[in-house]
Parts: sequence; structure tokens; C-alpha cells
Amino acid sequence: MSIRTLLFLCGFFFVASAATPLTPVKKKVANRMRQMDTKVTELMADRVGFKKEMAAKELSDLNSKMLEAELAEEDKMFPADELYGSIWDNRWVNPYKKEDLTLPDSFRIDCSTFVLPVTSEVNVTSKYGPRRRRMHRGIDLKVQIGDTIRAAFDGKIRIKNYERRGYGYYVVVRHPNGLETIYGHLSHFLVDVNDQVKAGDPIALGGNTGRSTGSHLHFETRFLGKDIDPADIIDFENGVPHEDLYVFHNVKINGRNSNVYTSSGDQMVYHRVKSGDTLGAIARRYGTSVSQLCKLNGLKSTSVLRLGQAIRCSAGSTTRTASVKNESGNDEKSTVSSSKKKNITVETSSDNNATYHRIKSGDTLGAIARKYGTSVGKICELNGISKTTTLRLGRSLRCS
Ligand SMILES: [Zn+2]
Repeated sequence: MSIRTLLFLCGFFFVASAATPLTPVKKKVANRMRQMDTKVTELMADRVGFKKEMAAKELSDLNSKMLEAELAEEDKMFPADELYGSIWDNRWVNPYKKEDLTLPDSFRIDCSTFVLPVTSEVNVTSKYGPRRRRMHRGIDLKVQIGDTIRAAFDGKIRIKNYERRGYGYYVVVRHPNGLETIYGHLSHFLVDVNDQVKAGDPIALGGNTGRSTGSHLHFETRFLGKDIDPADIIDFENGVPHEDLYVFHNVKINGRNSNVYTSSGDQMVYHRVKSGDTLGAIARRYGTSVSQLCKLNGLKSTSVLRLGQAIRCSAGSTTRTASVKNESGNDEKSTVSSSKKKNITVETSSDNNATYHRIKSGDTLGAIARKYGTSVGKICELNGISKTTTLRLGRSLRCS
């Protein structure tokens, strides 16, 4: 067969097959092919759409991450600026009175990252309150000259100054949580104004400068210039905050402003003594008794009230402090029984079956695990940490 014939034959068969109408089976196959084609096209389109969505999501994630980082950075550079209205005074402890800053009605202060400003064992040598006819606006903690003084929270140094008749060498730190802390009677500064610090960073050395007899740290917590008893926020005995959130309330009574404030949860209520106040009148106003006020404040019914003195008018914190003491008992037996008690409380509460432990000085994961009858691995798993994670004082660890 010549090549010509072959080509002719091929051509014939080709024309013939093209001309032959499609059998039903072939039709079916062709339809299938078309359908599959469409599907593939659709899938491809979907994939592109999906990719676009992914890209958009990644971008927005990235944006919000960048925004978060930016906000965090801004928070460090201008801590609690929304409260302090850009007032950044490097001279006066309380420049806010003049500036007519209004106190919010209430404000939640995150105290969860608190670190004790002293490294030695806590020894409160003088409490907050009236003292020798003047108000003692902070708490005194025993330190030796040269002891390291640490920032209580992350923050930025607002003041580094000297006051001969008062604070001596002192530092004021503004924190993103809205508080300002003051550290007085220092011997040496380790920071400069506008420095950013982390909670626990060394900021100064303890001393005995200014109005001070015997070396100690004078420590204040203020909110928009208003002093708050540091012991209302911090359990100094255990070196941790009473609660993660301290709620500042600016309560108006009879239209008068801010002579009462309460703390979170337990609704501790204070009254600041004004001219003409008597224990009887205060007791009536807060629905309590003179004897109760005396008990809460260590007063006698004949005690002379001083102007500006803060009188505790409700019991809340006393019971709470007592329970904290109970939990932290060093005696092995009491620790076990208190943790048992904790478990019972947990079992009976239906909606919350998690147990938390707040880290105190000297705690290790092993010790915590033993205390709560669990394992280090389990605690790591519950808290997303590893065995080598450094435990931060005051941090809450989930134990069950
Ligand atoms: Zn003091």
C-alpha cells in the first residue's frame, strides 16, 4: 500500500467517524467531561478566592498585630495617657489637682503583674493613715541602706527628685494600668526620668534620706493623684495583689465628691473624715455601728478623729485577708487541709471547676504540683508553659 492510499484511508476514517452521530455512551462521556471541566474551573476559581481571602485575613491579622504592637509601644511611651490627659509633669507628685482632672466614676486597675518593690522579707514598719497630725499617704517597708528597690509594675519614670523635708530622694513611676507608685527615702537612683521599666526592674537603692528615722522604703500607690492605701491593693504579707483587678470607685454621697472609695469584690468602703464628723454620724451614714467602726479601725469610741483620716466602714477585706493567711500557712498539715478545703469548694461550685494558685516567693512548679495533688506536666499543659518557664510572682497558675 502506497503512502497515498494510507493517508486517503486515514482521512476517510476520520471524516467517517466525525460524521457518525455520537452513541449515547459517548454522549454521556462527553457530558461528564464538560461537567468535570466546569467543576475544575469552579474549583480553580474557588481556590483563587480562598487564596485571596487567606491573604486578606493574613493581612488583617498582620495589621491588627501591628496595631497591637503599636498600641503596646504607645502604652509604654505614654502610660495611661487616656486617664492623665497628656499631663507628664517631672516635678510635682500631684499636678492633677491644678489641672482639674476629673476622676472616673470607677476604673478597673489590672494589678496582676505586681512585683514587690523590696527584695528582703516584708516588714511593714508603718501603715497608711494619719500619723502625728499629718496624713501618711503610703506604707513603710523596712530596708537596709543599699538594698535594691524594684518597680512594682511596668511603667515609665515620671519623677526623680529630692525633697529634704519629705520624701528625700524619691522616684515616681506611671504605669499603664493607671496607677502611679512612689518610692521614697532612697539613697541612690538607678533610673532616669522618662526611662521605661519592667515590673521588678531595679530602679533605686534603699536609704534614709528626707523625713525619715531609720532606713526604710516609703511606698505609695496613687490613682490620678489620689492616694490609695497600698495594703488595700497588695497583700504585703504574701507579696501579691489581693485580686488581679482593683476597682477604683469614685462614689458621690449627697452630691459630694470622692470622699469615699471602695475596692473590688468585697466593697470595702472608706470615709474620709471631714470637719464636724463624729463616729456616731459616720456609723449612721454607712449603716454600721460605732463599735464595728472601732473594731475595723483599731479605734476607741472616744478616739479623736482627724481631718482627712480614712475610716474603714465595711468589713469585707478583713475576712478575705484572714482566708489568704489560712491558705498560705507554712505548716505542712495546714497547707494540705487548706488545699483540701479549696478542692471541696471547687467541687461544690458547678460552673467553675478550676483551681488557681497565685505564685509566691519561693514557689516552684514541683511544690505547687504537690500542693494541689497534680503533676508538673499537667500544670504545664493547663497553663501553656514549659518546665523551665520562670514563674512570675503574683501570676495565677491553673492547677486543675
Ligand atoms: Zn512613709
